[in-house]
Amino acid sequence: MAEFNCYVCSGKVRTGEKFTFTKKGSVHFDCFIGSRRKELPAEKHEQLRDLSLLLDSQLKYLLDVLAIKSGTGSDNEVISTAYKNSEKEAGETTRRIAEL
Ligand SMILES: [Zn+2]
Repeated sequence: MAEFNCYVCSGKVRTGEKFTFTKKGSVHFDCFIGSRRKELPAEKHEQLRDLSLLLDSQLKYLLDVLAIKSGTGSDNEVISTAYKNSEKEAGETTRRIAEL
């Protein structure tokens, strides 16, 4: 996996860590949610919480699929499709959080 730096903490995003991409670049899940919480008014925090729980589970799933994908199984098509779909869903949730 290519290495990225998180735009919030400037640290490296390592393989197996939850991260996502926004218009600003790559970001750790925790850094992303933490910085949004600081930026958003209190009345949006509940919405942020719900979306962050959703994104958290989507990113966990994505990492799980990625772990299978990097195995040696021969039927990779179904895994690739699952990966692309879950990546798309996580991207959509990220966009919603970025636009709160
Ligand atoms: Zn970070």
